[in-house]
Amino acid sequence: MISVIDTTRCKTYHLGNLDQIPQLEVLSEEQRFDIEVVGRVLPFKVNNFVTDELIQWDDVPDDPVFLLTFPQRDMLRPHHYDEMAALIRAGADRSIIRRLADRIRLELNPHPAGQLNLNVPVFQNEPFFGMQHKYDQTVLFFPSQGQTCYAYCSFCFRWPQFSGMSTFKFASSEIDLLIAYLREHPEVTDVLFTGGDPLTMSANLLSYYLESLIQADIPTLRRIRIGTKTLSYWPFKFLTDRDADEVLAVFRRITEAGKHLAIMAHFNHPRELEPQAVKDAIQRVRETGAEIRTQSPLLGRVNDQPEIWADLWNEQVDLGCVPYYMFIARNTGAQDYFSVPLVKAWEIYQSASKQVSGLCRTARGPSMSTKPGKIQVMGPCEVAGEKVIALRFLQARNPDWVHRPFFAEYNDQAVWLNELKPAFGEDRFFFEDELDRIYHENLGTGTE
Ligand SMILES: *Cc1c(COP(=O)(O)O)cnc(C)c1O
Ligand code: SF4
Repeated sequence: MISVIDTTRCKTYHLGNLDQIPQLEVLSEEQRFDIEVVGRVLPFKVNNFVTDELIQWDDVPDDPVFLLTFPQRDMLRPHHYDEMAALIRAGADRSIIRRLADRIRLELNPHPAGQLNLNVPVFQNEPFFGMQHKYDQTVLFFPSQGQTCYAYCSFCFRWPQFSGMSTFKFASSEIDLLIAYLREHPEVTDVLFTGGDPLTMSANLLSYYLESLIQADIPTLRRIRIGTKTLSYWPFKFLTDRDADEVLAVFRRITEAGKHLAIMAHFNHPRELEPQAVKDAIQRVRETGAEIRTQSPLLGRVNDQPEIWADLWNEQVDLGCVPYYMFIARNTGAQDYFSVPLVKAWEIYQSASKQVSGLCRTARGPSMSTKPGKIQVMGPCEVAGEKVIALRFLQARNPDWVHRPFFAEYNDQAVWLNELKPAFGEDRFFFEDELDRIYHENLGTGTE
């Protein structure tokens, strides 16, 4: 397909200008109304690259990228949908609609794994918002200007941030605080810039943050990671945007300073890797010496088939990317719409893995990001006549828990840790007493 889009200007669409998306004409009145109803509760934003190049409108409503970005009726529970639809049909006041939206959002577990306040470090006697430090080696850093995305994914667990309901706070002069923190915490080897998508920032801002960090010359800081969806949702950030070359120059200066730069790219479906612009963007980023590692949740209806993952991993490796994580969809927002039982997730992972060579088997998973840590489903098995599910931590609040196998009763319906019971008649999983203690000790500091 010949590209007809203006690649120098990212045109964004939201509920207020839906009528400017010409392709939406393929939808029925009812489908368009669904977008409005669900879009009042869950954040919605797409851009002209997503609508013109990524979505194949002939396949709508089953098109994977359409499902990934456009609100769908079943993403809300039926009673929530009906309530909101009734208000909109009645032409209710904006403030009344907003109040209902907020009420529904609070029922969608908006802050899974204690996202809001947990893991916020206390530094110089102040909570350091804009940063999270949960696992020893890696600090998450949220630059305040990078808290949006080129399009919003419908599975996103950061949706409260984008719907304005999160009291997500940021520190002033953040980067100086980060640098001071890193000097006091030599165990931290990695900083992960995250958001939103930090690559929505201008090259100027990116340069300010990243160059400050490099110039601070912290010997214990070895790696900088940037979590991003930009490679597939707006590849022109690295190609034709006015500051594209400067973005790449910033990357190059990091690698030339001897720091490992990892672009943590989110690709959910092989379709996202098809456009030539995406391939070119990947190529240009790699030429800076940056490594691209990839991750995605396993999503019902979108990528819940082994062949899709085999394609995704094969294609990524061909393009020089390293598959890194396969996640279980988080227990928040539209989770019910996308959720895949843990046992089925493992079957997909195993079946995809056996179809590809070892170089493509580097994604760790399926993994749940829970309060105690990242838990990998190692698979169902039988131990001493009992059918169980083997699990282990890939990352844990207590590093000593990492890679210790443990077992849950077999349950092929469970979609999250809280639906699993310890196997062999145990009351609790091995880490639970200590986890309680950790919570208790940190009560009141907001740091967990
Ligand atoms: C996943 C994650 C990390 C990074 O873990 P790695 O295994 O080093 O990739 C860091 N912090 C949090 C809170 C995470 O969820
Ligand atoms: S790109 Fe990432 S942070 Fe942004 S909406 Fe998608 S999942 Fe959420």
